[in-house]
Amino acid sequence: MSIYSRFIGATAAVLLVVSPVFAASDPTYTALRAARPDGRTIAVSNLAFDRDVYHFTLNGTLHLLAPVEGKTSGAVFRGQGTYTLTPVMPEEKRTLAVNAGEQTLTVLSDTFDSAVFFDTALLAAAEQAGGAPKAGTAAQEATGVFDEYLRHQKKDLHTNLHVRLLRTLLNQSPAPEPLFLGWVKSKKYPAAFVAVDPLGAESLGLGVTRLGGEQTLMYSYDDRKGGFWYLSHLKRELDQRKADVYAAIADGEHYVIDTTIAPNADISGTTTITFTNGHDGTRVIPLNLFSKVRLKDAAFSPVGDTPQWTPVAFIQEAQEDDADAAVVFPSALKRGEKYLLKLTYAGGKDVLQNAGDGNYSVGARQSWYPNVGTFDDLATFDLTFHMPQKMQLIAVGEEVSNTVAGNDRTAVWKAATPLRVAGFNYGKFKKLSQSDKESGFTVDVYTNPGTPDIIREINQYLEAASENRTNGEIGDGYVGPSHVRVDTASLAQSAMADGVNTARTAKAFFGTMPQTRVSITQQSQWFFGQSWPQLIYLPYLAFLDGTTRNTLGLNGAKDFVDEVGPHELAHQWWGHSVAPKTYHDEWISEGFSEFTAGLVLQQTGGWPRYNAFWERKRQGINERSRGAAMPNNEAGPISQGFRLETWQTPGAYDAIVYSKGAYILHMLRMAMQDRTKKNPDEPFMAMMTDFATTYAGKNVTTADFQHVVERHITPALKLTADGKLDWFFQQWVYGSTVPRLTQKLDVADAGNGKYRITGTIQQSEVTDNFAVVVPIYVYFDKGSWARLGALTLIGNKTENVNLELALPRKPTKIVANAMHDVLTK
Ligand SMILES: [Zn+2]
Repeated sequence: MSIYSRFIGATAAVLLVVSPVFAASDPTYTALRAARPDGRTIAVSNLAFDRDVYHFTLNGTLHLLAPVEGKTSGAVFRGQGTYTLTPVMPEEKRTLAVNAGEQTLTVLSDTFDSAVFFDTALLAAAEQAGGAPKAGTAAQEATGVFDEYLRHQKKDLHTNLHVRLLRTLLNQSPAPEPLFLGWVKSKKYPAAFVAVDPLGAESLGLGVTRLGGEQTLMYSYDDRKGGFWYLSHLKRELDQRKADVYAAIADGEHYVIDTTIAPNADISGTTTITFTNGHDGTRVIPLNLFSKVRLKDAAFSPVGDTPQWTPVAFIQEAQEDDADAAVVFPSALKRGEKYLLKLTYAGGKDVLQNAGDGNYSVGARQSWYPNVGTFDDLATFDLTFHMPQKMQLIAVGEEVSNTVAGNDRTAVWKAATPLRVAGFNYGKFKKLSQSDKESGFTVDVYTNPGTPDIIREINQYLEAASENRTNGEIGDGYVGPSHVRVDTASLAQSAMADGVNTARTAKAFFGTMPQTRVSITQQSQWFFGQSWPQLIYLPYLAFLDGTTRNTLGLNGAKDFVDEVGPHELAHQWWGHSVAPKTYHDEWISEGFSEFTAGLVLQQTGGWPRYNAFWERKRQGINERSRGAAMPNNEAGPISQGFRLETWQTPGAYDAIVYSKGAYILHMLRMAMQDRTKKNPDEPFMAMMTDFATTYAGKNVTTADFQHVVERHITPALKLTADGKLDWFFQQWVYGSTVPRLTQKLDVADAGNGKYRITGTIQQSEVTDNFAVVVPIYVYFDKGSWARLGALTLIGNKTENVNLELALPRKPTKIVANAMHDVLTK
């Protein structure tokens, strides 16, 4: 999953990795990493233990791992084991059932004959029940199981769980509870990692940000069925409706990053992080760093006038294995104290990839520099780049200087306002700049002047298509004129228009932004756009006009092309200014950006284009994606975020978080419209501006948003006496019901300029309390229309419509929900 990006098609990067194994230099880590079954065993008979929602029973033998610093951290189990996982929340029950491929599943149970457990409490209980460990020689079968586990950790999980284990050994901060971590070779379901981590699932380093401090998980790394089958707060917390989130171990405040880009585009550099240590007695801090950027040196110093550098050990396994980086301090850091951490690295292959004719695509966008957190941890940045003189670079923040000496160019960029992540685009660029008075925004568009491979490819297709046309080999459909050729400069205008249109729309609906400049840069990846603070990466495809797309046979990509630019620009508001706190709130970034793209379409194509946008979204939400076992809307609620994407429900993440998330805002907009005002959207705009302003630079939850909507609640939304919107958010964001509306409406001339409207509107396929407010629209000739009023339907119900009213002329039809005011099946 890529953050703030928009994909279509599957274009997963394949990483080719070749590198020597790099040894860690901390002795405790080295011993921990080497620990294997050492011959000590404990026999267990009906040993039962509970870890949050898990219940295990073991009959067999625990083969203890060699102790490290006198402590045994884990054991291999061989024998007959069983476990059950009983989810607490209904949405977790649903997600588990979907992942298991069993619609009616409520408890997951399985058996196993091999497992590895890291759990000191389990070892203590086993000793109490089965007696002190018996010494002996390590059983081959136990060593074999351990090696199998380690192979999965390295080759499938690519996550160094030993870093997490090292933290339990070296970090002195008392965790609220001991760590439970296991690998279970299940028989019925795919083998999986199971854990109850008091520090939150993110502490295990499973490569996903914003897990929200949820402690209990089941993670499958199966090729097809992999993912978080279960991820939740502790049952105890859920029962009390109060969840704890453990503070981040380090809070990054300022980054000084000095990067050298070699003529072959390898990167090397030094990053100095100013951070506040979050826990007492910290010795191990994990880092985010792309596996091919190899650490060479690390040192730390307290923050002071003159840094006093002390060497720091570091961990980074071979790049093709579990290469997560971490630093190990020689002594414990104090909580709340500020430190500098200086990291030197080299050999960064494949951060930049040659895309032809002096153009490069930038990979590893979140981890090209070592960091202690992106997206939820804001920091300021000083960025210096050294590169060949003929090359250019556009980074986040503002360019401070750009100097050339001989064959070398040095560019300095500075982000004085805290950002969520640093990034850059690299290549040869031509700049087009426009300061838009109406929005107060300056849009810089950077295009590649050369002919990158992708443009060459596009033109080859175009030539082939036009030759085929001359030969009469192409059947139906209009094929573009044979002289159509694409060059990158002609694409800049379209990006500029997207930039200016989005800035204007966003200013009107969401208010002004602290930043008033954005750089739109071209990148040579098809079907993929991404937004970084003040820096947008757009695919060339986003700039192709309709004729060219048609010639290329890319008409299916039309919607993507129309929406990707505004969507990525909208992330400057939603995602970079106001950001979701956890993955449950991800729709506040993706859905809000998608909604903004809809508003931009309305600006350029009026209500018909806006309405067509929602019809497309509606269909996407209700449809069954290719290869899916069920329609997208049945995958689960918006609040399940990225976990909606499973082997059973491919496409559901996009349909629900992006499209249904956007629909939530559209439904609020329509419900909040006040037709007595010159601008009916005024209440909605005031609410959105309040939200964007109140939470600028902050991380927000869905509940924060609900409270802002409640501050601006309009009569149409006041369905409950308390004036709250629990009913709305419960059914649409935390629920997955989509109602079916059936209407049968007729209009008859009642004489004297009056018309009688009769018929029924029915809501079905909903739960008893499911409430909708359905407006009725009247259409006249030439496509003009008006809204007559609205009907409230609660539960499965049929309402009769019977009203007589004066209309200026004879209506052509009466339609309820004509503006997609309510999401329906
Ligand atoms: Zn996005």
